[in-house]
Amino acid sequence: AKSRGKNNFAFFTSSMNTEVQNRLELENDLRSAMENKQLKLYYQPLFSSLDNRVVGAEALLRWQHPKKGFISPDAFIPVAEQTGLIHTLGEWVIETACEQVKRWQQHSRVDLYCAVNISGVQLLNRNLPENIKAITDRHQLTAGNLHIELTETALLTNEEDASNILEELHAQGIDIWMDDFGTGYSSLSFLKKFCAQGVKVDKSFIHDMETDEDSRGIVKAVIAMAKSLNLRITAEGLETASQVEQLREYGCDNLQGYYLARPMPAEQLSEMMIRLPE
Ligand code: C2E
Ligand code: CA
Ligand code: CA
Ligand code: CA
Repeated sequence: AKSRGKNNFAFFTSSMNTEVQNRLELENDLRSAMENKQLKLYYQPLFSSLDNRVVGAEALLRWQHPKKGFISPDAFIPVAEQTGLIHTLGEWVIETACEQVKRWQQHSRVDLYCAVNISGVQLLNRNLPENIKAITDRHQLTAGNLHIELTETALLTNEEDASNILEELHAQGIDIWMDDFGTGYSSLSFLKKFCAQGVKVDKSFIHDMETDEDSRGIVKAVIAMAKSLNLRITAEGLETASQVEQLREYGCDNLQGYYLARPMPAEQLSEMMIRLPE
């Protein structure tokens, strides 16, 4: 038993070392990726459920690593948070997204909003409202052109500071949306406390809706709750025609998902909007 314990320990430390090493490597790679412009934003359109128009686009980070290929934001955002790189990275995302909204206004004559994901660590930066104001002013964007998406869990570490910062952003005219809604607390007081204007029903419930009655129940309950608070509702992760039909019927305001459009480079979205009927 003793020797097995020893082996287990040896195995444990070596796998820990690999994990630490991987994380360090990812951190270094991420630093140089930011310097060498290997990061890009893709944009996934959001459609109005009333007339199928594109009303906005969610900015999603893409990292094409020269050797390792595509790295998912779900893998590198946590590293960026742990190392503090998220602040520089997050501001680059907001700046780039705002620049793009302006470009769409000027060249494509469409007034879209851009939704940007903000992580918990990023939100707790006291200078965030000021920094965002400088960016929206610089690009002469109006209130409503920038939405931010936050998860409930991102708000839990320091609810007081988070709600103060969100109140400032709200006062600046920034729309605040609860992302992955239904997976966290999903309480009414939470939504009020954090000045939310809308919720995005999490894609996991949408995905399970057809096979699982509980998921369908959650989707309906979340929508009813949001409506009772006069919040707007986006359904994300729509992959089939029947999901689109159903969520439209349930009264969602905006629809998003692979069935309608995948995340794409900005130029591709510009082209898509030109081709869409008036
Ligand atoms: P999220 O904000 O919940 O974004 C939705 C994710 O679902 C995206 O994955 C999107 O590409 C994907 N998606 C869209 N439509 C469908 C669909 O119909 N079916 C399925 N299965 N998936 C769909 P992605 O781009 O890999 O991003 C993953 C997560 O990484 C995001 O989840 C967000 O939390 C985070 N993230 C991405 N970009 C940023 C960023 O700029 N800043 C921060 N802080 N987080 C980001
Ligand atoms: Ca999101
Ligand atoms: Ca989401
Ligand atoms: Ca998510």
